Amino acid sequence: MKYLLVIAVVGIVLWLMFGRGRRAARPAERSRAAARAEPAEMVACAHCGVHLPADEAVADAAGRRYCGEAHRLAGPR
Ligand SMILES: [Zn+2]
Repeated sequence: MKYLLVIAVVGIVLWLMFGRGRRAARPAERSRAAARAEPAEMVACAHCGVHLPADEAVADAAGRRYCGEAHRLAGPR
């Protein structure tokens, strides 16, 4: 019976440690991802609709953005 109590206490301590660790790690991950995503403006390809960073997009004469040269040549859909 004494061992059951010890196991329960150790389990609760471990659960609290891992619970806190997970909660502490998530906001840091989210802010890091936000910092990475924030500077890049995302645009949609006028042909296939895929989203890509604006600086990687290929623009045609009319200013439409495409994911690549092949879709720029294929034109808007
Ligand atoms: Zn495309």
